[in-house]
Amino acid sequence: MSLRTLGSSADLDGQVVLLRVDANVPVDQGVITDDGRIRAFLPTLEWLVSKGAAVVVASHLGRPSGPEDTHLSLAPVARRLAELWGKAVPLINGVTGPEVWTAVDALLPGQVCMVENVRFDPRETSQDASERLELAMEWADHVDATVVDGFGVVHRKQASVYELPRLTTSYAGLLVEKEVEVLTRLTTEPERPYTVVLGGSKVSDKLGVIEALLPSVDIIVVGGGMVFTLLKAQGHPVGSSLLEENMLDTVRGFMAKAHDHGVTVVLPTDIVMAQSFSPDAGHEVLPIAALESGVHGAHAIGLDIGPESARHFAQVVRDSATVFWNGPMGVFEFDAFAHGTQVLAQALTEVTGLSVVGGGDSAAAVRALGFAESDFGHISTGGGASLEFLEGSVLPGLEILGWQR
Ligand code: ADP
Ligand code: MG
Repeated sequence: MSLRTLGSSADLDGQVVLLRVDANVPVDQGVITDDGRIRAFLPTLEWLVSKGAAVVVASHLGRPSGPEDTHLSLAPVARRLAELWGKAVPLINGVTGPEVWTAVDALLPGQVCMVENVRFDPRETSQDASERLELAMEWADHVDATVVDGFGVVHRKQASVYELPRLTTSYAGLLVEKEVEVLTRLTTEPERPYTVVLGGSKVSDKLGVIEALLPSVDIIVVGGGMVFTLLKAQGHPVGSSLLEENMLDTVRGFMAKAHDHGVTVVLPTDIVMAQSFSPDAGHEVLPIAALESGVHGAHAIGLDIGPESARHFAQVVRDSATVFWNGPMGVFEFDAFAHGTQVLAQALTEVTGLSVVGGGDSAAAVRALGFAESDFGHISTGGGASLEFLEGSVLPGLEILGWQR
């Protein structure tokens, strides 16, 4: 691994560092409901400050159309960061411009400030490389180095992740370093049995990674909303459950390929079928063979794997030496349908080898269900980025930091 890491060569004493993080946390009416992504980059911020750097923290939040989207201001993030860190983190009102430069140029070693949501400036995500470069050049005039610690965005060609690190000295932050290290272990000679558990909402989001994993995994376990497309492809009625009709043939092809590779595909044997998609919907557990009765009766929508499936999935996970899990087993946001996800998460904590949780909602689920980060080998902060990494794609934001597969 040739990733330029902080430990290797960075001498940042007295330098102004732009720290690009992924603080894209869920915010509900100004309140952060899960601060995992802020905690995740805090060690890098502390490291930089301890080395005498002045740090400008930059992040995106959601997909604003511009600064007028004030509900996507980083104000709650700056407040939470200051609380967690125990020192002041002033938020400068702007992404670039005189107010920002005055504040940045005045920073002393060890001081930290935050700029506004980088996506308030449309050049950050522009398809036009020259526009992104223009924004990056404005930053490069005021900072000496860039540290990228937003693993969730390294798969994107965006000004703060791709153009800026080319214009200044640049390093991977501690979180990006850890992500790359752990995900590399999943792609190079993982200990066996190697099991991948997939769930969540869409097969189409995940098929690329599933295909890419076929040659290296031993077992693929599937639950969540995506399982209904697989069940339907096998001829089971799935009622009003989540279904991607146009993926049925692709899924059949995938099952055949899995068979050719000697990969065991484990599907649920029972499903929690509900009356409607709502937290208090009436529901019953039906064996797969009896889904027909639910579909034609009152319970036509599958919202979780059943208890028998959960027990079986958990056993498979516990018996594995390496486990990667992406995608909740059911609609964990509703207590009544969180059981499958709960049991699976518990099993992951009992894996003696390497257990990795990837995906925004999956990471949020394990925290919401009360598990500690330290219960798992690693919780990846990047949903799309971790999947693309496992697929074998070249991630622009890592390539720019010297990384080669
Ligand atoms: P991640 O962000 O971890 O990659 P996804 O975004 O793919 O995960 O999927 C998460 C979503 O999948 C959750 O909001 C969850 O409610 C939903 N989900 C899981 N099981 C079902 C189901 N049976 N029906 C509908 N949605 C589901
Ligand atoms: Mg998601």
